[in-house]
Amino acid sequence: MAGRRRRQRPDPPPTGFLDWTDSRHWAQQARPCRYCGGLTNLRDGSRKAAHKTCAEAAIAEQIAEQAAAYENERLN
Ligand SMILES: [Zn+2]
Repeated sequence: MAGRRRRQRPDPPPTGFLDWTDSRHWAQQARPCRYCGGLTNLRDGSRKAAHKTCAEAAIAEQIAEQAAAYENERLN
């Protein structure tokens, strides 16, 4: 993923995980959200239709899963 900002620390920025002010996240045509199926004009980082809240919830879940997997690795 190419971006101006690099992740330097694990804390999410106060504005959220993704920069949704970028015009790349907005499309003229509404399409079904990849997570909930509802129509949205928003696109996520992969240019797939997704609500901001759905995409951020999915990202938060992934991070939680990775953290849990890391904990399990350490404990075993
Ligand atoms: Zn959605």
